[in-house]
Amino acid sequence: MKILVTGGAGFIGSAVVRLAVARGHQVVNLDALTYAACLDNVADVAGNPNYAFEQVDIRDRAALDTVFARHRPDVVMHLAAESHVDRSIDGPGDFIETNITGTYQMLEAARKYWAEAGRPEAFRFHHISTDEVYGSLPADLSVMFTEETGYDPRSPYSASKAASDHLVRAWGETYGLPVVLTNCSNNYGPYHFPEKLIPVVILNALAGKPLPIYGDGSNVRDWLYVEDHADALLLVVSKGRVGRSYNIGGENERSNLELVETLCAILDEKQPREDGGSYKDQITFVTDRPGHDARYAIDPSRIRDELGWRPSVTVEEGLEKTVQWYLDNESWWRALQSRDGVGQRLGTGK
Ligand code: NAD
Repeated sequence: MKILVTGGAGFIGSAVVRLAVARGHQVVNLDALTYAACLDNVADVAGNPNYAFEQVDIRDRAALDTVFARHRPDVVMHLAAESHVDRSIDGPGDFIETNITGTYQMLEAARKYWAEAGRPEAFRFHHISTDEVYGSLPADLSVMFTEETGYDPRSPYSASKAASDHLVRAWGETYGLPVVLTNCSNNYGPYHFPEKLIPVVILNALAGKPLPIYGDGSNVRDWLYVEDHADALLLVVSKGRVGRSYNIGGENERSNLELVETLCAILDEKQPREDGGSYKDQITFVTDRPGHDARYAIDPSRIRDELGWRPSVTVEEGLEKTVQWYLDNESWWRALQSRDGVGQRLGTGK
C-alpha cells in the first residue's frame, strides 16, 4: 500500500511511519515541521527507498494538490494537528486553523484526487482523532465512551478535533469520499514530546525538579502505548468499514497520581536517586487546569470484535519500556527541551 501520512514527524505519526515502512508499505510523510516535529523520529527510515518526505503545511491547498499528484497514494492517514491541550488554552487560533481549516483542505485535496483517479474503491481517508471529543465521564467505572457517545468537547483542542471529525463524516456522507475515523485515548511511549505529562515527569524526576500534578491527581485517563496505537491504525486503514468510527483504547485506566507514582517506582529501580530517597517525594500538586475533564475511558469492543485488535502491553510494561527509552535517548530529548517555549510551561497536559 502507498500511504500518505500527515504529521509523520510528530509523536504518533512517526510511530505509524516507522511501523508502516517496517511492514513493507510505501510511505509519504507530509509534515510542516512545527515546533512539535522532529525528523530524528523517522531517522531509521529516512534512507529507505519506500520512504519520502514532503515539507508541506496542510492549510496550503496548492501544495497538497501537488503532493497528491506526485505520489498518488492508495490511502491517506491524517494525523497532522496542533495537539497540546495547554497550548490550546493559551492560544486557540493555531488549533482552529490547522485542525479545522487544515482538515478541510486535506479533505478537498483528497476528494479532487480520488474523483480524478476514477473513485477507486480501496481509497480511504483515515482521520485520526481523540477520545476528548466525547467530553468528561463520571467517576462510575461502568460508564465508558462508545462510538455512539454524543460529542461534548470542552477544551479548544478537543472542540477543534470534534469539528474536524464532523467535517470528515460530512465529506463521507455528502461526497461519498471513503472515510474512516478513529478516536483514541492518551498515547505514551518513545519520542513523546518533552512537554507532555509522562516525559515531563520522567525528565523532571531525573533533574531533581518537582513533579507537577494538576489538582489532587484524581483525573483518570486511559493510556495507550503508541506502538500499539500505530498497529491499530494500520489495521483500521486497511480493514475498517467505510464511514465507520473505531474507538481505540489501552484498557489501562489510571488516575494521574497512580500513573506518576508508577513512573517514580520504575525510576527508583532503574536509576535510584543519589540521596537514597524516592522520586515520589518530588510530587507537588498545582492549581488545576481550567475545564479539566474528570475521566476518559474507552470501550474498545468494536475494534476488538470486528477487527480482532487488542493492545499488546499493559500500562506497567509500556511505562517500563518508555522510561528505559528516555534513559537511553538523552540527546534526543535534550535537543527538544532547548527549543523556544518548551519547558517554560507546566507541561502536565496530554
Ligand atoms: P504531535 O503534536 O506530536 O505531532 C503533530 C505533527 O503534525 C507534528 O509533526 C507537526 O509538525 C505536524 N503539523 C502540525 N500542524 C501542521 C500543519 N499545519 N501542516 C502540516 N503538519 C502539521 O501530535 P501527536 O500526539 O502525534 O498526535 C497526532 C494526532 O493524533 C493528532 O491529530 C492528535 O489530535 C491525535 N491524537 C493524539 C493523542 C495523544 O495522546 N497524543 C491521542 C488521541 C489522538
